[in-house]
Amino acid sequence: KISKIVLLFTFSVGVITAQNTSTMDKKVNALIQKMTLEEKVGQLNLATFVNENNTTNSLSEMIKRGEIGSILKSNGAEKNLQLQKIAVEQSRLGIPIMFQEDVIHGYKTIFPSPLGEAAGWNLETIEKSASIAAKEASASGIHLTYAPMVDISNDPRWGRIVEGAGEDPFYASLVASARVKGFQGNDLASGQNVMACVKHFAGYGAALAGRDYNIADFSERTLREIYLPPFRAAINSGVGSVMAAYSAYDGIPATANQKLLKDILRKELGFNGMLITDWETVRNLVKIGTAANEKEAVLQSINAGVDVDMTSGLFLKHIKELVQEGKINVDVIDQAVKRVLIAKYKLGLFDDPYRFFDLKREKETLMNAEHLEFARKAARECMVLLKNENQLLPLNKNIKKIAVIGPLANRKKDLLSWWGGNYSQWKPEEVVSILDGLKKSVDSSVEIKYAEGVKLDGFEAKGLELIPEAVKLALESDVVILVVGEEFSMSGEAGSISNINLPGAQEELVNAIAKIGKPLVTVLLNGRPFDIQNVNTKSNAVLEAWQPGTMGGLAVADILLGKYNPSGKLTVSFPRNTGQIPIYYNYKRTSHDVNETNKTVRWTNKYLDIPTTPLFPFGYGLSYTEFSYSNLKLSSSAINPNQSVNVSVEVSNTGKADGEEVIQLYVGDDVSSVARPAKELKEYAKISLKKGEKKTVNFILTPTDFSFYNKEMKWVLEPGSFSIMIGASSADIKFTEKLSIQ
Ligand code: BGC
Repeated sequence: KISKIVLLFTFSVGVITAQNTSTMDKKVNALIQKMTLEEKVGQLNLATFVNENNTTNSLSEMIKRGEIGSILKSNGAEKNLQLQKIAVEQSRLGIPIMFQEDVIHGYKTIFPSPLGEAAGWNLETIEKSASIAAKEASASGIHLTYAPMVDISNDPRWGRIVEGAGEDPFYASLVASARVKGFQGNDLASGQNVMACVKHFAGYGAALAGRDYNIADFSERTLREIYLPPFRAAINSGVGSVMAAYSAYDGIPATANQKLLKDILRKELGFNGMLITDWETVRNLVKIGTAANEKEAVLQSINAGVDVDMTSGLFLKHIKELVQEGKINVDVIDQAVKRVLIAKYKLGLFDDPYRFFDLKREKETLMNAEHLEFARKAARECMVLLKNENQLLPLNKNIKKIAVIGPLANRKKDLLSWWGGNYSQWKPEEVVSILDGLKKSVDSSVEIKYAEGVKLDGFEAKGLELIPEAVKLALESDVVILVVGEEFSMSGEAGSISNINLPGAQEELVNAIAKIGKPLVTVLLNGRPFDIQNVNTKSNAVLEAWQPGTMGGLAVADILLGKYNPSGKLTVSFPRNTGQIPIYYNYKRTSHDVNETNKTVRWTNKYLDIPTTPLFPFGYGLSYTEFSYSNLKLSSSAINPNQSVNVSVEVSNTGKADGEEVIQLYVGDDVSSVARPAKELKEYAKISLKKGEKKTVNFILTPTDFSFYNKEMKWVLEPGSFSIMIGASSADIKFTEKLSIQ
């Protein structure tokens, strides 16, 4: 409950007290007084190691001249320390560098992909995994992470859907808040935390046709209803930094969009931290054609309220001249510099610029046993059991011969997802594959044999000649565990695909194995929802394991062998096929919705060839036990617009194992002046129930849960009748009660 109240009503004061604030202000103002214009601009310049033109050597020279404020994609504590020493000891004012990095779902210990982790519906786990990532990253000398990514997307063709928390703005807001708190902790200056940078502001997930960096075209209503809430939550949780998106809003690139950055981000959402561009987005203004040249691009970004230029180097090149020409007021530059220096101050860099660089701590912290154990917990909590015919899972103890088949069964990097696979400088011995995880977890009497089945190397069908060997192995086994999905690099940034079928020859493999009729468990390793209609029909059990991170193989084994009862539920709809995209549970009602009574009628908004429903809906996931719901009660059936209402429901574990259930509360506004979704998630609880146990779950709905943006784009509650729904998923509503608000 508290989380929601904090989310909606508090205004962050960051991590410092009022008294500290004035000391900080004074110190920072005094420093700005001493700075030359060149030095000021230097603080707004975020340079990178990986930029070809910047060899480490020239970085050092630039640092000496005070031309670099922050560095992106660094090389570990030792390298960072060298550069920090140059900044502190050899530049005129000795202002420390801020080191920044994409620490998205773990630094060295890699947790499940963000989309996967969200499916655990456990905010404590999500916060803790971010805090472990912060501990590890800070031990390597990193001060800021470009996370969380909170872009909502309804398009699994878009590879970056893997970096978000799913399709629901309410749940994504809670996750955003948990991640910010995890990264930043209570004290940014502790040396154990990193500043978070929420991204990409805003609407980047709306890239048309799912092609990354593409035009996004959506209304202000959609911006407010769908895309802004997670940013608001991050800001209310004290996020130190925001990154502007590659995309445009209403035709104007985010980096140059005054309405977006000044009116909405600064004024409306009250963000007063450091605003960074995305990679070269200042230069991109020229490519897009909204600026005639680089200098104009700089002017436009500064006018829009950007503080820091990521990697284009153009602020460094043009701001001085623009100030001298009177086109930019130096006060504006001072404000931006102040926000950068305040961020450095909050991180404690002025007290001790070296506190983050501790080689001993780096060694002790990275991938320590506690972190690895937690990664295993996070991974198994978020896996979603999609199908379990005749309770094939957990595997029966009598099973003695297991065939592990599939191109991803023995892979490692693909478990780490896009950022983890690309940037964590992982080593093969650090990651547990699914094959290894199973081998390590079964009794010595169980025999495990492996066949690759087909090759997975890009999208082309390869390795069909390997199928017969896999079929032979399957025939000799009691059960088949088939591991299919996508390579880590197929999703993530610039990882767009035109159709969401399993890549390569994997469907052929599924068909060949299914044909022989052995019990078939399919484990999916993927960043995004796939079209798994065929897999689902042909398998007896299906486990969505996402891209589960360093300990993924052990987590899968925990579930298949019954050491953990699966408890994840989808936070993103799984379409039946590519043509259903975009599909999401909280669609707005139309005049021609398909329902039970008009199912056979032609004149509905259905498809003629397939159902309108997704294959697996938002909020769906099975368990090894069963839950039954009873007794939905409202504390009152009629309230006034300022009141809250308590909602309670009883949930019992009626199956054969202890387990956890995610109970979901949806609200629908029966009549409203603007079309609204039939249901929207407003609360949820994940509870654990022993076999035979019953618990009462209580929720409080506050006025904001019944409010929406009206025609004037004002956040209002319109009195009337509301439907209060309790469900085990968005499509499995157990009870509905009416609430009257007058
Ligand atoms: C991505 C950002 C990322 C940045 C720095 C960009 O291409 O869009 O999400 O933080 O690169 O690596």
